[in-house]
Amino acid sequence: TPIEAATKKYTIATDTTFAPFEFQDTSGNYVGIDMDLMNAIAKEENFEIEIKALGFNAAVQALEAGQVDAVIAGMSMTDERKQKFDFTDSYFDSGIGMAVSTSSNISTYEELRGKNVAVKIGTQGASFASSIKDQYGFTISTFEDSANMYQDVVSGNSVAAFEDYPVLGYAIRSNHLPMTLTSYKEQATQYGVAVLKNQNTEFIEAFNRGLATLKSNGEYDKIINNYIGTDD
Ligand code: GLN
Repeated sequence: TPIEAATKKYTIATDTTFAPFEFQDTSGNYVGIDMDLMNAIAKEENFEIEIKALGFNAAVQALEAGQVDAVIAGMSMTDERKQKFDFTDSYFDSGIGMAVSTSSNISTYEELRGKNVAVKIGTQGASFASSIKDQYGFTISTFEDSANMYQDVVSGNSVAAFEDYPVLGYAIRSNHLPMTLTSYKEQATQYGVAVLKNQNTEFIEAFNRGLATLKSNGEYDKIINNYIGTDD
């Protein structure tokens, strides 16, 4: 009988908390859309995964340094990132929103003049905020993770946070944060899984094949609906 090839194992970095894409359940296990998709695809395509919750910026840096094989972290497939990374097919549509503290009475960019806003380092939300900060005359505080970014708004140091709107909406609802999502939707984007450019094409192919299977057998919709209601 032929010797079976060892099961391929990929080390995959993710954010520390980016619900509903990755977050710890009450037992400390990582769950969420990214985690469930990754597990289901690994099962479907017969590979193993090891998840490292490093934080978004640290995850991207670990990938750049070749310390991990891939990043799944609600990562937007921007043109800039496509210079450095190859991405799988997209698995979610998103974009940047602005959430404000409920007591601030702010709802527009114009009202940010002279105020401070909170962003998370290395994210598309952070670069968007910095691209409009001079025009609207606000300052920026940068945080390592989303929880501390929200806390800066809750504590009143910042009046607003810029982050992906499905994530802001989920955080406000599930943590009952005294914050409101404004109507802005900027930089429509899609999430994909990143690997280093021209490496790990095998992973990309397996992920894309697995994703297609999950989309056709209904498992993809089940995972999404498990975390995101129809009102999102
Ligand atoms: N989608 C955003 C980005 O890629 C944020 C990702 C995250 O914070 N995990 O920059």
